[in-house]
Amino acid sequence: MKTYAIAAIPGDGIGTEVVSAGVEVLAAVARREASFAFKVDRFDWGGEYYKKHGRMMPENGRDLIRTHDAILFGSAGHPEIPDHITLWGLRLAICQPFDQYANVRPTRVLPGITSPLRSVDGPELDWVIVRENSEGEYAGVGGRVHQGSPLEAATDVAMFTRAGVERIMRFAFRLARSRPRKLLTVVTKSNAQRHAMVMWDEVASEVAREFKDVTWDKMLVDAMTMRMVMRPQSIDTVVATNLHADILSDLAAALAGSLGIAPTANLNPERTFPSMFEPIHGSAFDIMGKGIANPIGTFWSAVMLLEHLGDKSAADRLMKAIERVTADKRFHTPDLGGTARTADVTKAVIEAIDGANA
Ligand code: ATP
Repeated sequence: MKTYAIAAIPGDGIGTEVVSAGVEVLAAVARREASFAFKVDRFDWGGEYYKKHGRMMPENGRDLIRTHDAILFGSAGHPEIPDHITLWGLRLAICQPFDQYANVRPTRVLPGITSPLRSVDGPELDWVIVRENSEGEYAGVGGRVHQGSPLEAATDVAMFTRAGVERIMRFAFRLARSRPRKLLTVVTKSNAQRHAMVMWDEVASEVAREFKDVTWDKMLVDAMTMRMVMRPQSIDTVVATNLHADILSDLAAALAGSLGIAPTANLNPERTFPSMFEPIHGSAFDIMGKGIANPIGTFWSAVMLLEHLGDKSAADRLMKAIERVTADKRFHTPDLGGTARTADVTKAVIEAIDGANA
């Protein structure tokens, strides 16, 4: 029997609550499938670790997780530590060296969930946003001089390489081709940003020639926000830069009913390094410790983890269990307008996996 090694990094805030729930659910899937097992190693890195050690993870942190089959991540963020330190010290310190350059964010209106777009139901909003995850606006290039003086200057340089754009474009076209509608929208801001964004458009046209069966179009990011709200059914797969896709996917999550539901995968498609799966929400300190965090985003991320491991049957089983539970309003947490607690949702999903409430 195959045993998958999973590195669980709960991080901060509700990250710890939803990752514990995610680990329980993965164990239930493995029990039910009986064809594989999980060995979960937990790494308590994040804000509290920083307060003790002055860094978000140990110096050899990446070596400790390099050979794991996948990483299940919660959230990095601490009210007493600046966000750029928590982000660069943990999440980006894993994503970037592990070359997890494709960030994949599916969005659907799950059964039982109401979209704020009143006329929309399930089949009309079924998207996957592909976010370039290794360079662009979050390349970390830039600097500050004369700090604190009136002459202070600061730059954040968005850096795009042809190799980086080509590989994410190819990934997105391949993903679009694998979906029934074979439809891709390439998002840029190539009217105002006339260098790198124009290169995106050029690379898109070049790569499109390899995918003649995929229908694609181009969209400026501002117009894309309107299209997501006004014509959601016209969208299927989307590819955008690190910053643009970051913003668009929060909008997507809200349109699908709640940030608490949305999953994401940080993929190293070549599998040289482990890939990382996480809910898209943050540490949510406003609800931390109350036991009401919605764990569905983490469970859906676990579905993506199972798909990445190649276990389609386990992934389908978990997704069906999630959909059965969201369909029942008794299991809606407060972010969805209900009164259920994290533990109630987790128990219901585990029972659905076991088939007890089928
Ligand atoms: P960060 O800076 O770490 O991204 P944040 O507080 O700015 O954190 P989120 O943590 O994503 O942003 O939270 C935004 C809002 O959504 C908060 O009001 C939070 O309570 C709510 N929220 C986020 N995730 C969940 C969840 N899983 N369940 C319920 N509510 C959630």
